[in-house]
Amino acid sequence: MARTLGPVCKRCRREGVKLFLKGARCNSEHCPFMKAGANKKPLPPGMHGFKRGKMTEYGEQLREKQKVKTYYGVLESQFRKYYEMAERSKGNTGQVLMSLLERRLDNVVYRLGFAVSRAQARQLVTHGHICVNGKRLDVPSYLVRPGDVVSVKEHKYQGAKAKRPGSMEIVAAAMSITAQVAVPEYLMRNPGALPSGVVMRYPIFDDVSLAVNPQLIVELCSK
Ligand code: SF4
Repeated sequence: MARTLGPVCKRCRREGVKLFLKGARCNSEHCPFMKAGANKKPLPPGMHGFKRGKMTEYGEQLREKQKVKTYYGVLESQFRKYYEMAERSKGNTGQVLMSLLERRLDNVVYRLGFAVSRAQARQLVTHGHICVNGKRLDVPSYLVRPGDVVSVKEHKYQGAKAKRPGSMEIVAAAMSITAQVAVPEYLMRNPGALPSGVVMRYPIFDDVSLAVNPQLIVELCSK
């Protein structure tokens, strides 16, 4: 399974916005955006980052697309598939595209607060710790539907690995960090010992927590 490796905070600095890729660190003073202080952004990466001139129209469109891809942790080929699905759907292509990305199972696990980052949520899913409607589902790109119940499957290591934290401990630790973060309106987190949540409706563009102009992405992808 392909994924982007390499420095993470650099990607936020490139886009000039916090993309919350590193979990608890993103809200700490170690975040480069916190270090830069209020009303200031950290410098873009690269030795010439500080003296880049005005961006071209193409540059703005490309940066908007890269920002969304980094935020949701999808690669170009996957992103193209979402774009084609959005293009075939009724409604505003850009807004449908964002709604499709928001429906990804790894994103839903993150937004329910079961993981501190989308990367951790993706790992929970691929390692088989997440169930949808009571069945284990290890596909992070699964698109949730209204009525789907997303829950955590209890898993404990045995034998020599018994000291490793099981799925419940990992999720409980994440939930102690994400407790203050509001769950979006299209999801409902069930209070109780076993962490679970329900998809109440399809997400809409307003449910996306990233400031983005999807029209720029459509202009780029439709060329
Ligand atoms: Fe790094 Fe998180 Fe800050 Fe982005 S938001 S720069 S990933 S600490």
